[in-house]
Amino acid sequence: MKGVDLDVIASRIRDASDVFLFTHEFADGDALGSMVALTLYLQAMGKNVHAFVPGRIQSVYRFLSTDELLNTMSAAQAAAHISVAHVTCISADAADVDRLGEWKPLFLSGAERLVIDHHDTNAGFGEVFAINGSASSCCEILFDLFNLINPCLIDARIASALYSGLVADTGSFQYANTKALSLVHGAQLIELGASPDEISRNIYESRPYGSVKLMAASVVASRLMYGGQVVVSYVTRNMLDDSGALDEDTEGITDELRRIAETKVVVLFKEASDGSIKVSLRGKYGFDVKRIAAKFGGGGHLLAAGCTIRGELGEAEVRILAELDRYLGPSRI
Ligand code: AMP
Ligand code: MN
Ligand code: MN
Repeated sequence: MKGVDLDVIASRIRDASDVFLFTHEFADGDALGSMVALTLYLQAMGKNVHAFVPGRIQSVYRFLSTDELLNTMSAAQAAAHISVAHVTCISADAADVDRLGEWKPLFLSGAERLVIDHHDTNAGFGEVFAINGSASSCCEILFDLFNLINPCLIDARIASALYSGLVADTGSFQYANTKALSLVHGAQLIELGASPDEISRNIYESRPYGSVKLMAASVVASRLMYGGQVVVSYVTRNMLDDSGALDEDTEGITDELRRIAETKVVVLFKEASDGSIKVSLRGKYGFDVKRIAAKFGGGGHLLAAGCTIRGELGEAEVRILAELDRYLGPSRI
């Protein structure tokens, strides 16, 4: 655990009355599970709470009531409120402040800034932070926090949101970040009312058709490099248009590509709507992809990391491959 422990976060939360919540752009299951769980838990504590999630929210997580619970206050209202009230800002699952997207200035204008995260690369950008790189997910840290504050407030909806984050970040308890404690926590969340089959069906079997077609197109567009050690693929604006998928519906493509035997690295280049290139990296057999993302100002975990590169997709690919050459070259064939 880097920085202060959860007790300090817990006491800051107990003392707070107005809380604004933040997470990273292209919010995944852990990010959204964290926002929903924190919103419900803090409401149960009697706090006035609002969550600010950048960009659009992927539709598969609607079952957690994301539409009703998140982004409930406009930017103008939030700016007006934070300028007169003592607002405690909490960032969860964001490895650095830039990942808060359009809500970064709002977070920075909070009277207090707390950071809860499980990314090793997080340098602790708030003034109080709890960063536990060995936790599978931010939701697992939140479960500890909620137990510390008052376990009686964890109802079935909160348990479901936390369980969703755990499932999403561990790939259904399959990845190397799955610890014995993750399974213990999973079991406790089921006892508190989370339904594993319902949650898995929602996360993995409720995708818009366009998103599944995009996944197929991305598999077709992929190529193997470095003797099959690396699989590279793309999500271009054209592919998004052709499939009818939305930017936020690209989760799962890297999971599909990592199925290939003997690949050590998955690299997915996505053309974002603002013209930048979002690079998703996945490692297998212990191949450290965080060091590659970090080279381009990104971050993440040993086996799952990402970065954003300004410029054309082709240029981004040249730069990432040059970095991969250092570990897997000289032959790219
Ligand atoms: P993704 O490929 O977007 O699913 O991200 C994989 C992991 O890397 C997640 O833990 C992200 O939080 C992290 N990550 C992705 N992009 C960035 C970035 N630009 N900066 C820091 N961390 C990132
Ligand atoms: Mn995340
Ligand atoms: Mn996470």
